[in-house]
This record gives sequence, structure tokens and C-alpha cells, in this order.
Amino acid sequence: MSRGDAPLGETGETGEAGQTGQTGQVGQVEHAEQADHVLQPEQAAGTVPSSEVQRLLRPDLRGRTAYGAPQLDVAVRLNTNENSYPVPAHVVEAILAALGDELDGLNRYPDRDFTELRKSLTAYLEKQSGVSVTPEQVWAGNGSNEVLSHVVQAFGGPGRTALGFTPSYSMHPIISETLGTRWVDGLRGTGAPDTFDLTADSAAEQARAHRPSIVFLCSPNNPTGTALPFEVIGAVLDAAPDAIVVVDEAYAEFARPGTRSALTLLAEHPRLVVTRTMSKAFAFAGGRLGYLVASAELVDVLRLVRLPYHLSSPTQTIARVALDHADDMLATVEVIKHQRDRIVEVLARLGATPVASDSNFVLFGGLADEKATWQALLDAGVLVRDVGIAHHLRVTAGDPDETTAFLEAMTRLAPDHVRSHPAEPAHPAPAASRAHRSVTHLPAEGTQP
Ligand code: PMP
Repeated sequence: MSRGDAPLGETGETGEAGQTGQTGQVGQVEHAEQADHVLQPEQAAGTVPSSEVQRLLRPDLRGRTAYGAPQLDVAVRLNTNENSYPVPAHVVEAILAALGDELDGLNRYPDRDFTELRKSLTAYLEKQSGVSVTPEQVWAGNGSNEVLSHVVQAFGGPGRTALGFTPSYSMHPIISETLGTRWVDGLRGTGAPDTFDLTADSAAEQARAHRPSIVFLCSPNNPTGTALPFEVIGAVLDAAPDAIVVVDEAYAEFARPGTRSALTLLAEHPRLVVTRTMSKAFAFAGGRLGYLVASAELVDVLRLVRLPYHLSSPTQTIARVALDHADDMLATVEVIKHQRDRIVEVLARLGATPVASDSNFVLFGGLADEKATWQALLDAGVLVRDVGIAHHLRVTAGDPDETTAFLEAMTRLAPDHVRSHPAEPAHPAPAASRAHRSVTHLPAEGTQP
């Protein structure tokens, strides 16, 4: 099977950036973690439409490729940062019972304002983060991509600019641009060359320079895995006084101890939005439930742009029942974090350069040819993610067996695939301390192929 085998038009997990198609050039990071070829609007506008449909399509969409990771039938799927563990049987039973009680009510529209679900999310957030918010401060959608799109619909649009810091989650630019918002690829690593770090000074300087209406921060960041220094958030809020600042915390539950959530800043900042999802730690990606927390006033205006009844009754119900069983749903988080740290340790021992991670995945570099390694892993029955960063791949921490399958395959491949594979790879691992953050040049604004 090859990377080209994913059916055409199949976008996989929409929230997950990056078909592993024709990827970026050496030394460049494509739009965050994507690897599909995406034409810049001016390039696309200049192309000759190949059909009637192409002629009628918005010029800035012509030539773009639908977005998503391959959904391949492979034994070990570690490419979309899902939780590998199934929903516990007793939670499945509770969900079935709750659904049974309401199916005869499907003739009616659902509660447009998902009142009960908001209460459940509020209770969960207080328990998970210690931050207490009101149900009026919570908004939900079919995955956090949808709530992100509500924010862009309300605060972006033609004539407005959104800023993010590459490499980061590639749906941020895609949502922005498809909703007519100009996207600026800010840079990471300007504080210290060849790193993925984003410093408060660098973020603030870029925010001042571009005068955005929306700034996207991602912490822990996908695809690099590491949480942002907390002071970046305040620095960006100060430097961009006319911007809504979104902190995408899709992976918050996996962060290492001591990592502070942006939720703790909400009380002081009416322009701050924190997005989260049940797709990752909560093991509920198929349930499609993402949410955000912000000031009640900000949440209220999102009602102007959402489609009526956007959250179906079954979605509201299954999410509520899952939240009622939050402890059981999250029971696997520590196991997954352990597997993540194991990946960092073993890959470092093999001479690869894993990035220290606060998420359920690890970005690792030091590969001679990431596409060759991606294919070799696939041939060994392990699907990982080519995120479009030269010499790097990203792997999700699976259950212990899946993680072992990946690490065994990498151990076999390392002598040929890892550039600085040590002659004696069996030495004890220096673990995360040696985790490296090397990346070659990041693209200048708007120069990605
Ligand atoms: N934010 C980030 C950083 C992500 O990685 C993802 C999914 N990969 C999402 C948001 C969207 O997830 P979902 O729509 O499933 O909530």
C-alpha cells in the first residue's frame, strides 16, 4: 500500500491536518501539519479552470486539495492522534440506554442552546482544570473545528487578518482562508534559530506587525507536541488589542504536570477564547464534540453565525453521558502519557530527534528521508503521519502493543533511516532531556507551495 492509496475525496478526520501526499520541500514547513499541495490564492486564481465546475468555483479555492489524513486499513494506526482505547463497555451501555429514551423524540428539533450539555461541560472543566465558568461561557460544536469556524465567522472575514505560528494546526489557516480571512503564517523559532520555540517577545512582535483580528495559539501545539510558555498568551493579548486570541487546547489533558491552562486567564480577558475537544484524551473522536470557553458576551454572539440546531439530539445526549463518566473516559490518559514518554526515550536512543511532548503524540526528526520512512513503516503495518516538515514524522502514542509495534519497526529501520543512528543503539536512553527540536527554515508568509 502506498500513500497514494487513500480514496480520492476522502478527507479522513477533518480535524486532523495533513494528507500525506506531495509534501513540502526540504527546508520548508507546509501549512502546519498538512502535506497536501495547497496553491496560494494568487497562484490558483491564475490557473486556467479545467472544467465548468472549476470555472464557477471561487478562484481562491481552485487548485486546492481536500484535506485529511489517509484512513487506511492498517493494523496499527498512529496517524490521527486519537485515543486507541475503546469507550468502556459500561459507558457504551449507559449511552445506549440514554439514546433509547429519546429516539422517539427525533421528530422534534434538538435544544438549540444545548443547555444540559453546557452544564455538563462546565462541571467537567471545573473538575479537570479547577477553573469555574458558567454555562453561558461555554459553546459547543461538532468537533472543535466547528467551534473554531464559528469564531472565524464572527470575528474574521474579508478585509480581516488571522495570524498563527507555523508549524501549528493546519486547520487554523484552512478555516480562516475558506471563510475569506487573510492568513498570515507567523514564525516559530525566531527566538533561537532552528527551534520550534515561540517566545513571548517574538509572538508579541509578530502580533504588533500584522494587526490581526484573530490570533491562533495552540498549546500543546500540534504537530510539535510541546505546550507554549504561558507568558506567550498574555503577551499576545497585550500586543494585539484588536484581536480575539484563540488558544487551542485540544491536547490539554495530556500536558505534563505544571502546565497552566489558558482557562485560568479567562476571568481577566474578554477577548480570550479557549477551545477544547472530546476527540483526544476523552476517547470520543467519533462522537464529534468540541467546545470553547470565553466571556459570556463573546459566546452569545456566536449564535449569530451557527446554523440552527447544529448539535443533534443524539450528539448532545451521548456527549452528556460520556461527560457523566469523565473519570472512566479519561482512565487511559496516564497509560498513553507513559507510552508517549517511552517513544521519546527510545527514539532518542536510536539517534532520532524527538521533540518533548505534552500531547498524545511525538514529532521526531533526524530522518534521512521522511517519505521513505513513512512508507517503510506502512509496509511494516504501522501508519504514522507525514506532517510536511522535512526529515520529520509524527506518531501518536497508542496502547502498549501498538507503541511496541512502532518502536520495533523503527528499531529495525533506524540503521538505514536515521541519519545519526549510533553504532551501539542499545545504550540507556537519555530520554526527553536529549529530545531535540531541530527544524530547517520556516517559510516566510505566504510562500508555501
Ligand atoms: N485542534 C487541534 C490542535 C487538533 O489537533 C485537532 C484534531 N486533530 C482539532 C483541533 C480538532 O479536533 P476535533 O474537531 O475532532 O475536535
